[in-house]
Amino acid sequence: MSKTLFEKIVAREIPAQIVYEDGMVLAIRDINPQAPTHVLIFPKKVIPRIAEAKSDDKQLLGHLLLKAAEVAEKLRLDDGYRLVINNGANGGETVPHLHCHILGGRHMNWPPG
Ligand code: AMP
Repeated sequence: MSKTLFEKIVAREIPAQIVYEDGMVLAIRDINPQAPTHVLIFPKKVIPRIAEAKSDDKQLLGHLLLKAAEVAEKLRLDDGYRLVINNGANGGETVPHLHCHILGGRHMNWPPG
C-alpha cells in the first residue's frame, strides 16, 4: 500500500508547517486555507475516513478532538472556530486519511456550502 499524503508529511517526505505533534496526532497548516486560520489535525494511524473508524479507535478519536481544541486555544481562536470532518465523495473528502479541519479567524456561515 502506498503512503497517504499525510503519512508522507508525518515521515517528513513532504514539507508542512507543523503546528502540533505528539505520538498520536499531527497538526499542520492547510496548504489552501479557507479561513485566516486553517489547520488540519489527523491521527498518525491511517483511518481512511470517520465511517471506517472502529470501536478500538475510541481513545484515538477522543485524543484527536481534545487536541483540536488545544490547538485552537494555542492559535488564539478565542472568538470561536469550526471543526469539520469531510467523509467520502459527497462530504468533499479529497485526502483518504481521516483529518479534522480547524477553521477560524472569521465568522463561519451556516449552512455550509
Ligand atoms: P479534505 O478535502 O477534507 O479531504 O481536506 C484535504 C485538505 O488537505 C484540503 O483542505 C487541502 O487544501 C489540504 N492539503 C492538500 N495537500 C496539502 C499539503 N501538501 N499540505 C497541507 N495541506 C494540504
